[in-house]
Amino acid sequence: MRPLIAGNWKMHGTLREGAALAEAVRAGAGGAPGVDLLVCPPFPYVQVIAAAMLGQPVAVGAQDCHAAAKGAHTGDVAAAMLRDVGASHVILGHSERRADHAETDAAVRAKAEAALSAGLTPIVCVGESEAQRLAGEAEAVVTAQLEGSLPEGFAAAGGVVAYEPVWAIGTGRTPTEADIAAIHGAIRARLVARFGQAGESLRILYGGSVKPGNARAILALANVDGALVGGASLVAADFLAIAAAA
Ligand code: 13P
Repeated sequence: MRPLIAGNWKMHGTLREGAALAEAVRAGAGGAPGVDLLVCPPFPYVQVIAAAMLGQPVAVGAQDCHAAAKGAHTGDVAAAMLRDVGASHVILGHSERRADHAETDAAVRAKAEAALSAGLTPIVCVGESEAQRLAGEAEAVVTAQLEGSLPEGFAAAGGVVAYEPVWAIGTGRTPTEADIAAIHGAIRARLVARFGQAGESLRILYGGSVKPGNARAILALANVDGALVGGASLVAADFLAIAAAA
């Protein structure tokens, strides 16, 4: 499967910095010809960066959208608006949004439905907390999140799942390779159980402290079809090195 290396810029940088970062990724994209590249800037920068990347081998996505197509939702952004300004993907249900904005599985599912309706590819994030991992509940938690967060049309539209253990985000810690492979295998099994053959070809990204130094080993694991990169996506050379390792 062709890997997807996605950068989640979170709430970082100025417009000037973001534009320069996207341009540096574009300029280096030739170093990873077999990989799909995606950058997900903060909302205010999506339009400018998407316009700059038009026709280039770097897709542009957002980090959230609202579940409604339009309406009285002050401060929110509709999926169709993101599509309108050139986004092709949207990250949904990131653990930071689940924590900061109390997003439930049902809310994430509704957002994913909105994304599909607008023609955006949803990247739905799941992952256990450290306490859940220590309690041996990681697989059960992730499975339940998948069941609750993925809408019916997900597989037909080529939706993406990102496994991001909460305790591995921004900490420099990662699960063992065996643990990553086990969860990704469980996710694949759930996708196939739910969506049939289509579940075999959906990408499952790993996210959580992916760096140039660990990317090759993680991306070589079975059912790891790419990475969702936070901190290292803010440095073009690091992001491109991760892509080159895929
Ligand atoms: P880090 O790569 O900084 O750990 O962040 C991962 C993440 O949350 C990507 O969505």
